[in-house]
Order: sequence, then C-alpha cells, then structure tokens
Amino acid sequence: MRVQNVVASALSLVGRGALRIVLPSWCAACGNDLGWRARTASCCASCWSSLPRIDGAKCRSCALPLPYNEADFCVSCLAAPLPLDWCEAFGEYRGTLERLLHALKFEHHDFLDDALAALLAETLHARGDLAFDTIVAVPMARAKQRRRGYNQAGLLARALARRLHVPFDARLLTRRASRLTQSTLPKHARAANVRDAFHASPRAARKSVLLVDDICTTGETLRACASPLLAAGAARVCAIVVAKAR
Ligand SMILES: [Zn+2]
Ligand SMILES: [Zn+2]
Repeated sequence: MRVQNVVASALSLVGRGALRIVLPSWCAACGNDLGWRARTASCCASCWSSLPRIDGAKCRSCALPLPYNEADFCVSCLAAPLPLDWCEAFGEYRGTLERLLHALKFEHHDFLDDALAALLAETLHARGDLAFDTIVAVPMARAKQRRRGYNQAGLLARALARRLHVPFDARLLTRRASRLTQSTLPKHARAANVRDAFHASPRAARKSVLLVDDICTTGETLRACASPLLAAGAARVCAIVVAKAR
C-alpha cells in the first residue's frame, strides 16, 4: 500500500480532501502522476474518458449489454428475470472501470464516490425515470464494513441521493447475519448464499425504491435485496450499478 493510502485511511473525509491538495498523487486507474488539471477525483482525464460505458442495448432485468437492439431480456433473464422494474449499469466491469472500482473498494479511494455517482445520475437521466421516493444501498456485512471502514455501495448511494435530491435511507434495507462474500463463490452457489440475507423495514410499503451497488455479476444480490423490499410492500424496486460484470 502506498504511504499516501495509509495516511489517507487515517484521516477524516475533510482531511482527505486537504491531503489531495497538498500531496502529489497518482491516477487510481493507470498509476501515472495526476496533474492538477483535467482530473476527476483520483483519476486522470485520459483514463476517465476511456471508461467502458455501455452505449447500446442492455437487458432490462440485469443490464447485460445485448448484441441486438430491440432489446428486452438476456437469455438467462428470460428464464428467471430479477424482481426489478429495471436494472441499469453505467459501464462494463473491465479495464479502467474495473481498476477504479477496485481502488474505491480496497485502496481507500473513497473520494471517487461522487465522481462515480455523477455517472450513475447521467445514466438515470438518459433512461428518463427518476420517480423514486427513496434510495438504498446494498448493505455490507457488519464485520466487513468495520474492517474496511466504509461500504462502497453506501458511499455511492449517498452521493447519488445528494445529486438527485432523493432521500437516502440507511435503515430501510439491512443485512442479517454475516454470509460468505459472494465474489469468493462459484456462480451456482451464489443464489443460495444470499437468499434471506437481507431484511426490509415495513417503511418500504408503497415506496418506489432505487437500489444502488457498485458491481452486478449474476444479479443474485440484487434479487435477494429486492425480494424483501417487495414483500414489505414496496411499490417497485429498480437498481443501478456502476459496472456490469459478465
Ligand atoms: Zn489514468
Ligand atoms: Zn439479463
């Protein structure tokens, strides 16, 4: 870990902002020196402009990019769609976007949150559906959040809520007992691992809920979050992630 990251992890958010001003820094994606001009948070202009945005059609249920344009559902969602009104993703989980999300998650580049939330807001505006009563994040296991110091999905959701002027609700969706980390499991084991992992408050009743996460892989985590929200009476649940992984 770079000395800078160690120092950054010990400082408050305000302190970190100041740190970025006084110390030289590196692009979180390519590692090159980060100049003063044309940077976005801790990402250089060239990496930021090369983010693998999904421009074409996406699966309505899981945001997988589709090769044909009158798109609706991908093959696996045709068989078992997620219980979401729709799911959006800004980009694909590869290249510069994969590196930035890794930095957000594991290298204390938590000040990337607002820059990435701006991409989420842009994606939502392009879809033209912003009718939400509340924004929630996919909750992280408590022990894990204590170790990391923050939940990256929570940071993104809060930053997006500020941008959209929609309330963020940290207590609407909570995580029950600690489960195994999804990313450590083979695909077929993921659904069983997250089933019943989340609890929704009765306050979800009649609400239009936007669920936020950093990455969507199989969609099983989004399914496990949306199900209790709908069971609690939510009017609808939509989801947005920064990156869709295959
Ligand atoms: Zn770069
Ligand atoms: Zn799909």
